[in-house]
Amino acid sequence: MEAAKSLGIDVSKFKTENRISGRDYAQRIRRARHKLMYEKVSIPPASQPTRKLHTEIRRRLNNQEIYVGELIAPKTYRRNHITSSGVLEETEVTVHGRKIPLEHIRRQMNVDQGLLFRWRKDDYENLDEETILKRFSKLKITVPSEPMSALDELMKVEHTRNLKVWHDHSDILNHSYSKATDVDQLSYTSTRLEDINSLHQPTYFKGTSIYDVLRVFSGDGPARQFEAGHQRGGHYSCLCGISVKEHQNLECALRFNPRTLSERMKILKSGVLWKEYSERNINPLCNLKKEALTDELEARGVDTYGKSAAEMKEKLVEILHGIQRPPALLSSDIHSLSLSRYEIPPC
Ligand SMILES: [Zn+2]
Repeated sequence: MEAAKSLGIDVSKFKTENRISGRDYAQRIRRARHKLMYEKVSIPPASQPTRKLHTEIRRRLNNQEIYVGELIAPKTYRRNHITSSGVLEETEVTVHGRKIPLEHIRRQMNVDQGLLFRWRKDDYENLDEETILKRFSKLKITVPSEPMSALDELMKVEHTRNLKVWHDHSDILNHSYSKATDVDQLSYTSTRLEDINSLHQPTYFKGTSIYDVLRVFSGDGPARQFEAGHQRGGHYSCLCGISVKEHQNLECALRFNPRTLSERMKILKSGVLWKEYSERNINPLCNLKKEALTDELEARGVDTYGKSAAEMKEKLVEILHGIQRPPALLSSDIHSLSLSRYEIPPC
């Protein structure tokens, strides 16, 4: 800049946004530059050495300054490596996904948002009946008949949060240890269910119980297909159950009722082969031989006499409308889920 000034150039007209006064410029803080042999020669900022960064992160993890969640969904791989003596060795490596449990997030939210809560536990102690009724009518909720339970209900309603979750598996798929297959995605079901089950219990902020409702928005088509146990691709690729050929047909769309999750389960369970569903066999109704097709269709009350395997396959596909397995969250053994309002909207 000094050189430019000495040449008579008006430097004040350049980079006006960086100036903090008529004369001074905001200084950027730079990391040390590498100096080369010659004193005045330097190259751009030295990046922080990876080892130093690792040590620092490890220190903060040990001090619990950083929380990186818990290990989930372990997967075992076989790895080959050659020892120093030249022998090929096979070793097993276990890798994990990582999650911050929902309960931890809810507690942290209480800390972050607690001061913003409108009502505290103490505020309910001296409420008269008239105020309680007024608050219920404002919330457009029916008042419970027992006066004591009315107060509890009011406290619960006024301390219920709705957590909006965008759920499209992208955070699973973006990690190299996990594949984009249904099998891999299903390996996260049990840990998802743990989070859902933890919602039964409230969290607390200064003695006030806070309840949470999980509102999950499953993003794109493939995410919803997976969630509902629907096939990917094929003639019935859309979750609504209308075939690809008819999908543009408005009259067909008007007359067709998309199946709810419980209706889908009913259709799936009308046959026999769904019982073979397991973590290792997630598509028990796919690639069936003639004998299996006959068993499945007969169990569904379809006459298979004289029908070829191709005809039977077509019939089964038509009955299933793309249904392939139970919905992701219902495919586990856990039954006590609070998923009464769980539904996956079609297209
Ligand atoms: Zn559709």
